[in-house]
Amino acid sequence: MADVIQYGPARLLPGEQIAITTNPDTEPFWQAAKEHRLTACQCAKCRHFRMPPTAYCPECSSRDKNWPVLPGTATVFSYAICNKNPKTGGDFIYVPVVVDLDGAPGARLNANVTGCDAEDVRIGMKVTVEWTAIQDGWVLPNFRAASPGA
Ligand SMILES: [Zn+2]
Repeated sequence: MADVIQYGPARLLPGEQIAITTNPDTEPFWQAAKEHRLTACQCAKCRHFRMPPTAYCPECSSRDKNWPVLPGTATVFSYAICNKNPKTGGDFIYVPVVVDLDGAPGARLNANVTGCDAEDVRIGMKVTVEWTAIQDGWVLPNFRAASPGA
């Protein structure tokens, strides 16, 4: 059996390295994040969730949107372990994840996960939202392992 690589603590990419752009379809998500509320774009007509937010519902073409406040918990759908800071090129262990958002069936979000060692991240792992200040006063949802080392 091969040895398991020990990467050590999963870090979050530094917020000062992260900039976003918004548009009228995505801005409500980011405005809610500024207030530490996790939301997802939901069609106001057929209730289908879609992320990232787009102008029209892919199911029924409605332009009407709801932005329900979600519990802030999620489940890791997929992940990768990275060992270089993409901005500086220096050694830096972080784990980009795609998570399924609780309370928003079908809605997924890209983020980083922290609160455990990188090698302990698993598909199906429960995580909770953690807020990271980024450039221009925006706030990015990241996620923390619900039970460290689990
Ligand atoms: Zn719809």
